[in-house]
Amino acid sequence: MASQPIAFHLLEEPLKKIVETGTNKNAADIMCPIDKCKCLVIKKGAATLVERDGSKLELPESVLGSNLSEQLKGSTEMQFWRLGNMMDFENVGFSKTVDAVKYLSCADCDVGPIGYHDTKESPSEFLISIRRVRYRF
Ligand SMILES: [Zn+2]
Repeated sequence: MASQPIAFHLLEEPLKKIVETGTNKNAADIMCPIDKCKCLVIKKGAATLVERDGSKLELPESVLGSNLSEQLKGSTEMQFWRLGNMMDFENVGFSKTVDAVKYLSCADCDVGPIGYHDTKESPSEFLISIRRVRYRF
């Protein structure tokens, strides 16, 4: 049986646990942040850790639930899981588009934004905030 997914802020030294040394790939399955939701967003080993401009995500965080919003308060989000192709997601939804930025959400429960896709960026990339998801080891 798979273990229960763990939220980013509950991990000790999260970057050591969720990032594979040497490859910078995700060392755990990336899951929806909502406790009751079992949606798998990105499979282990499919995404790469990158640093990006987190200001594009400074959007309504309230939809993520008060607990997670509280964790994000005052923290700059700069680290993201990057996918180069939408087809590499196991499940993902698009919540809304603001200017040229499409916001990504959970495909099952619609919670979001958990990441974004800037349609003006080339090559195209899809970014999931490492703090807005849970990890299943
Ligand atoms: Zn969900």
